Amino acid sequence: MSPVMQEMGIIVKSQQEIAQMREAGRIVAAVLEVVVEQVRPGITTAELDEVAVSEVGRLGAVASFKGYRGFPASICTSINEEVVHGIPGSRVLKEGDIISLDFGALLNGFHGDAAVTVGVGRISAEAQNIIDAAEDALEAGIHAARVNARLGDVSAAIQNCAESRGFSVVREYVGHGIGRQLHEEPQVPNFGIAGEGPLLRKGMTIALEPMLNAGIWRTMVAEDKWTVITADRKLSAHFEHTIAIGENGPEILTVL
Ligand code: MG
Repeated sequence: MSPVMQEMGIIVKSQQEIAQMREAGRIVAAVLEVVVEQVRPGITTAELDEVAVSEVGRLGAVASFKGYRGFPASICTSINEEVVHGIPGSRVLKEGDIISLDFGALLNGFHGDAAVTVGVGRISAEAQNIIDAAEDALEAGIHAARVNARLGDVSAAIQNCAESRGFSVVREYVGHGIGRQLHEEPQVPNFGIAGEGPLLRKGMTIALEPMLNAGIWRTMVAEDKWTVITADRKLSAHFEHTIAIGENGPEILTVL
């Protein structure tokens, strides 16, 4: 596909649209903050989902994931070797687990999408390492997301950060454009070659979401048809922000 064709589906937002996405993003951040506060040994992932449902409702928005392609809950809860798309349920969190919390909110026709990985009680140094590396990889990707850079610059920044810390990046799931649709063009891989891919322009809004594995990058889908797990059952961590590419650099939209 030519570079021109690759860019065709990308929807550039106006300043007014980005202002609305800022509001949606703030709600995502607020909900995640409240859910993270509840993470502790003994709580179930279904209870975390209930917290997200009640908080997003209180803030006047709608959970983006509920019913999306049939997803049965409002938040994704992915524990330890689970990478993404874990379904909340009766599983009880225990000391030493790590959990990825991925949440999207729809407000006034625009989506925001973000994820964090946190420890449950005291966690191992290994677990803390992968969490820190995933957060740093997201930051590296955001830093590279500038007007006149290429999408490959973002992908390569994420990959280089992750691999320099000894972790692999998941290939089968990627970040994405976001706006009126939860998933828009372009796809944003967490691996790639600097200087390649579509040109980044002012007004592009994308969700960057590095998924780092402690072992191999390959993943599998669990029997529930949703939960993605590492093929070697080693730990995985996931961070995500929705950002807007502005004249003066990237702006994180999923913040308070
Ligand atoms: Mg996403």
